[in-house]
Amino acid sequence: MSDTIFHKIKNREIPSEIVFEDEHVFAFRDIAPQAPVHVLFVPKQDFATLNDVPADSPEIIGRLATAAATYAKREGFAENGYRIVMNCNGDGGQTVFQIHLHLLAGAPLGHFGA
Ligand code: 5GP
Repeated sequence: MSDTIFHKIKNREIPSEIVFEDEHVFAFRDIAPQAPVHVLFVPKQDFATLNDVPADSPEIIGRLATAAATYAKREGFAENGYRIVMNCNGDGGQTVFQIHLHLLAGAPLGHFGA
C-alpha cells in the first residue's frame, strides 16, 4: 500500500494535532469537519479498505471503535451520544485509502439516512 496523507500525519510530517494515540490506533481532527466534533481513528497497521482486513483479525476494527468510545468518555460527550462511520470504496464515499473510522458528535445528528 502506498503512502497516504494519514501516514504523513502519523509520522508528524504534516501538521495535525493527534488527539488520541495508543499502541494500535491514532486519531486526529478531520480537516473538513461534518459536525462540531469530527475525529478520524486510524489503525497503525495499514489496510486500504475494510475489504482488506483479514476476517480472523476483527480486533483491528474493534480497537477503532473502543478508542472512539474512550475518547468520547474522556472528552465528556459520551452520554450525549455520537456516531461512528466507516466508508468503503466508491459507493461508500471513501476518499482516503487507509482505513479509518469517523467519529461525529457535538450536536444532534438526526436519524441516519433522514
Ligand atoms: P473518507 O471519505 O475516505 O471516509 O474520509 C476521508 C476524510 O479525510 C475526509 O473526511 C477528509 O476531510 C479527511 N482528510 C483528507 N485530507 C486530510 C488532511 O490532510 N488532514 C486531515 N486532518 N483530514 C483530512
